[in-house]
Amino acid sequence: MSNPFYQPVSGMDLPRFAGIPTFMRLPLVQLDDPRISEVAIGLIGAPWDTGTTNRPGPRHGPRQLRDLSTMIRAGNGATGVRPFELVNCADLGDVPPNPADLMDSLERFKAFYARVKQAGIVPLTAGGDHLCSLPILRGLASDGPLGMIHFDSHTDLFHSYFNGSMYTHGTPFRRAVEEGLLDPKRVVQIGIRGTSYDTEDKDFARSVGIRLIMIEEFFARGVKDVMAEAREIVGAEPTYVSYDIDFVDPAFAPGTGTPEVGGPNSFQALQVVRELDGVNVVGADLVEVSPPFDASGGTAWLGVSIMFELLCILATAVAARG
Ligand code: MN
Ligand code: MN
Repeated sequence: MSNPFYQPVSGMDLPRFAGIPTFMRLPLVQLDDPRISEVAIGLIGAPWDTGTTNRPGPRHGPRQLRDLSTMIRAGNGATGVRPFELVNCADLGDVPPNPADLMDSLERFKAFYARVKQAGIVPLTAGGDHLCSLPILRGLASDGPLGMIHFDSHTDLFHSYFNGSMYTHGTPFRRAVEEGLLDPKRVVQIGIRGTSYDTEDKDFARSVGIRLIMIEEFFARGVKDVMAEAREIVGAEPTYVSYDIDFVDPAFAPGTGTPEVGGPNSFQALQVVRELDGVNVVGADLVEVSPPFDASGGTAWLGVSIMFELLCILATAVAARG
């Protein structure tokens, strides 16, 4: 049972539109706080979108996601998991980026996540664009390469953009494989679709053994069958989960920079995460929510709902590891 300090403020005690919006109404415990040693799962904001190649805005994601996350209640209606009772969860605040210097931001992120790992905390990050995942993996993969289950309409495996730029939100997992942060044989990318200039990213995936599950295969086989294969690919070893909101059809998640039609609905968006039960997860992220393109706030609401499903999976895994 979790320490009472780490129970989120209930909407029965204080209405959900009132108070300071931390992630899921959890206490704020930053890395230099003495209580940090009690925290098992840290919810972290990554307000940074300098890797964006087209429509910007995910730097505003964490604030909007914190606000909408006050709608989240304590129990999962589908699985029965009550994550806040399993382990101590806290809002760790934001990673401070340098919006004027991409390379400095990469260093700041890596240092932050190395401290999170050193403190024994499993991170659940709200992006930010997808380049955020690279320095997170640099911080987390210090004991060896991780497996990864990646939901996205894009592979983010390109070599470079704009005449040689190596660090964009279209390249993080190419770098992560090159740097030995990911074991490509234990990586599966689900939901890939859309138009493309070339097949350089997919050729790379096949050359190193990354499993691509295109959206056509996803719909032909269904969620349960696809996710059973994903669990088999990553096996029992440590695995990261990266979730780009553009995995979901833009009818349900229009507030993102690079939408692709013909994707999963909001129910399937939650279902795929529930199928991660039993995976040895060591961290997760939800990226690419762009509030300037999210007029209704519905994309952020779906984003925090996915984050809650991820939290249920993380809390179950952390509790099982003891
Ligand atoms: Mn992505
Ligand atoms: Mn994407």
